[in-house]
Amino acid sequence: MPALNRDFLKAALSTAEGPTGEPLVRNLEWTAACETFASVKLHFPGITDADTLDAAARRTHGAIRAAAGEQGVVLSSLIVEIVDEAGTVLLSSNSGPKPSDDQNAKLNDAGEANQAKAPATTEHKPAAQQGASGIPGVKNIIAVGAGKGGVGKSTVSVNLAVALAKKGHAVGIMDGDIYGPSLPTMLGLNAHELILRERMIEPFLVHGVKAVTIGKMVDPEKPLIWRGPMAHGAFKQLSEQTSWGELDYLIIDLPPGTGDIPLTMAQSLQLSGAVIVCTPQKVAQDDAVRAARMFQQLGVDVLGVVENMSYFIGDDGKTYDIFGRGGAEQMAQRLGLPFLGAIPINTALRTNSDSGDASANFDPNTAGGEALPKALAKLADNLESQTALAGMKQGRTKPKLTIS
Ligand code: ADP
Repeated sequence: MPALNRDFLKAALSTAEGPTGEPLVRNLEWTAACETFASVKLHFPGITDADTLDAAARRTHGAIRAAAGEQGVVLSSLIVEIVDEAGTVLLSSNSGPKPSDDQNAKLNDAGEANQAKAPATTEHKPAAQQGASGIPGVKNIIAVGAGKGGVGKSTVSVNLAVALAKKGHAVGIMDGDIYGPSLPTMLGLNAHELILRERMIEPFLVHGVKAVTIGKMVDPEKPLIWRGPMAHGAFKQLSEQTSWGELDYLIIDLPPGTGDIPLTMAQSLQLSGAVIVCTPQKVAQDDAVRAARMFQQLGVDVLGVVENMSYFIGDDGKTYDIFGRGGAEQMAQRLGLPFLGAIPINTALRTNSDSGDASANFDPNTAGGEALPKALAKLADNLESQTALAGMKQGRTKPKLTIS
């Protein structure tokens, strides 16, 4: 059985036609595949008409999905980007992620049913990330943001970090939520003493991850009323003056909304990308869309959307749809963003967070059953794949393929 790789993608696009009748493969600029995720970039010289580009994107989705269907290749998410000669993304669309059998049935031959459209734009990538630098020894920096507070951003940050560590990665987590740090409680740091060595912060080692939080440097009962420059300074100090050592992933839990901390971060740290946490309701989606747009305006790739509090499994074993399961997934599709997965409403998740025992979320005996550990492991798998794809896309990691 053929695998999902660049050769497969090229072959799939060699039979479909582009806007001027040429095989689409001739317009292929770049392609990457990782596990069941794929991403392709095409450039159509001289064509800027939005409808023509949209049709070409649809044909690209259709050709690849059709080849995958015919050859039994598993393809859960396909991102198609159309770029201009400068590499600026004019159109981005995502078929997937992980269509249900129902959705698969609706995919027509052209693969159009599940296609998300993004408006064609000629905006150039902003400079925010251009002056940013990495942290020595840290391979991937990933920010976790949300449009509004209380949707589970810190919960997702902590559990993603622990899930990645359980997969064998070296992981750090930084509480970038300067105004309302949650890590001291969620990671059980209250009894730990802050250690400074040669003016560098030593991260706490808890649940297999290295953690740093402003919450250990301030009085937990006093409000943190900080002006912009002070918050900016605190954020930079946490990220730059911590002895992180060698890390595969550094997860940054951002404050909710679109304030100045994300701007500070985008200007100072070279990010692999951002994850957006959203609950399924329409009001939460609207704020999440703003957060996604903010990251894009800052030049930060959005690695995907997590739907938290997606559904509830009762003691009777039945699944209850409380907030409108699938709302955040649909929002991700609409924006052409990958969907990383869903987390159920789970009482154990809340109590384990309150008692600082994140590891317990991975044990079915202390996580209220299998659903939560499975959902968290899946999230980590998908984030790993999307980070690898983003690394290739950003040219930070090989392989990189250019077809001329
Ligand atoms: P945010 O960082 O977005 O403000 P938190 O992660 O602090 O949100 O979560 C807010 C509260 O909701 C916390 O008490 C947390 O334990 C709880 N919570 C978050 N996600 C879930 C979930 N899926 N099931 C149960 N409780 C949750």
